[in-house]
Amino acid sequence: MSLDGTYDDGNIFAKILRGEAPSVRVFEDEHVFAFMDVFPQSKGHVLVIPKHSHARNLLEEEPQVLATLIQGVQRVTRAVRAALNPDGIMVSQFNGAASGQTVYHLHVHIIPRWEGVPLGRHAGGGMADMGELKVLAEQIAAKIA
Ligand code: AMP
Repeated sequence: MSLDGTYDDGNIFAKILRGEAPSVRVFEDEHVFAFMDVFPQSKGHVLVIPKHSHARNLLEEEPQVLATLIQGVQRVTRAVRAALNPDGIMVSQFNGAASGQTVYHLHVHIIPRWEGVPLGRHAGGGMADMGELKVLAEQIAAKIA
């Protein structure tokens, strides 16, 4: 999908927000929902999405929604650091299929990185074990300040 188009209410993240599809929740407040990526590029890969949004990407989002989104991203990123002690943390966001975007509800990736551990494939690796994701989600959630 290109940068131009209309928001599709049937996208998987919209379904997760409506409770129509499962997710492993890490954190939520009135503005954002954070959950484990099921095709993680590293241990502890979390996604943060705005709850009240029909933006497919960064370019379409309202500035006030972006403000609360990035605050949520920082909060969860700090919790990921506290829980998993990575050497670095990649925070990324894709706009349009040509950039690598595969789900068209605005979202931000939080991907902890360790020295010497290569980054997994984006949106194309193996599906994670749900039990392991739940343990990681609990560890991260316990460190939300
Ligand atoms: P992007 O390619 O930037 O649009 O990112 C979409 C991300 O969503 C990818 O990292 C996928 O692994 C992830 N993903 C796709 N379906 C689900 C799902 N049902 N639950 C959690 N993560 C998902």
